[in-house]
Amino acid sequence: MQKIKMNPQKPLVEIDGDEMTRVIWKMIKDILLTPYIELETEYYDLGLEKRDETNDQITVDSANATKKYGVAVKCATITPNAQRMEEYTLKEMWKSPNGTIRAILDGTVFRAPIIVKGIEPLVPTWKKPIVIARHAYGDIYKGVEDNVVKGEKAELVITGENGERRFLIHDFNNTDGIIQGVHNTAESIASFAHACFRYALDLKTDLWFATKDTISKKYHHTFKDIFEDIYNAEYDKKFKEAGIEYFYTLIDDAVARVMRSDGGYLWACMNYDGDVMSDMVATAFGSLGMMTSVLVSPAGAYEYEAAHGTVTRHYYKHLKGEETSTNSVATLFAWTGALNKRGELDQNDELCRFAKNLEKAAIETIESGIMTGDLVSLSTLPDKRKVNTGEFLLEVNARLKKYIS
Ligand code: NAP
Ligand code: MG
Repeated sequence: MQKIKMNPQKPLVEIDGDEMTRVIWKMIKDILLTPYIELETEYYDLGLEKRDETNDQITVDSANATKKYGVAVKCATITPNAQRMEEYTLKEMWKSPNGTIRAILDGTVFRAPIIVKGIEPLVPTWKKPIVIARHAYGDIYKGVEDNVVKGEKAELVITGENGERRFLIHDFNNTDGIIQGVHNTAESIASFAHACFRYALDLKTDLWFATKDTISKKYHHTFKDIFEDIYNAEYDKKFKEAGIEYFYTLIDDAVARVMRSDGGYLWACMNYDGDVMSDMVATAFGSLGMMTSVLVSPAGAYEYEAAHGTVTRHYYKHLKGEETSTNSVATLFAWTGALNKRGELDQNDELCRFAKNLEKAAIETIESGIMTGDLVSLSTLPDKRKVNTGEFLLEVNARLKKYIS
């Protein structure tokens, strides 16, 4: 069999990561990709050791490569905390790689559940997918913060050509405290809005957006206003033609409505809301292992990844030589998403077809009752069999071969 060729001038940016997902990464490549494709990738190792060794330059380089080539696939990575500092004897508590990459690319993260027969959502009314669009720039992810000691006073100071504006945040007269400064930019909010309106038109689904504008009358309200202005100026007619709706409400009302809905819409969330709500929606749709994620930059770069982390608990078992049953589907779909997008951009139909077949093979495997532990407890199929991490990928490969021959 002839392997599928890719354009060596347009490599996929391959961003490797940590722990169990790093183990899965290699398995996916060895079992399901390199036997079929002459993979052209530009490889960036974002494993924590390498980030420490390069003073995190490798993360910046991987984001710039994504800008340059337009399509990347990323493995989950550790965001170091105090415990990781010790575990890996790090020089510094490096920032979240995803945060760094998002800050460089700007853009919006879209998260969609992979729906399979037999895994019913925990919310019985949910019949259709809920896709979350997470703003990927600013707010607490670009925050500046510090501890304040008793007797100090915190002020907000804005300086510019017209002098200075000063606001008292809090006078810490008789107690210690904490303080945080956050920002966003009109440009980033506008590109977030455009990305959401366009994606809703692509999917032909309603778009919901929510903030806490009643409490945050400047910060949150600006998000609301920018969305509204852009909608009225550019999308109102297109939405009406497509028979879809733009709906704005308060975030707490949105959460209540989501729980009562039957799904089938794009839910645009501010950065923090999107972080939290996508985990809730993913869990309610089944498993974090079934949630895909793609960062779309305003310049048109795509970075595909799984929504879950490095699955540390499973990795420690793996290190002890114990068997693991870790779900590789979201990581696999990150690869298929990226290969398909590369194929679209390069008019490489064979590559697109391969990516679609690989997705079909993975879904068929689960729907035939063969699945990892996280799904076994959820599946309503009468006959199901739990397989380990590697066995699952071999089962997918057996089905993939059928499609290809
Ligand atoms: P996690 O890796 O997503 O795992 C949390 C738990 O969810 C796991 O222990 C497991 O539950 C379940 N789970 C998640 N993905 C699964 C999969 N593919 N298959 C089966 N079960 C799965 O989150 P975490 O433990 O909070 O974080 C671990 C590390 O990942 C941290 O260092 C964090 O910084 C990093 N992280 C990275 C990203 C990213 O790169 N995008 C995102 C989030 C977190 P059971 O143990 O009950 O089986
Ligand atoms: Mg999160």
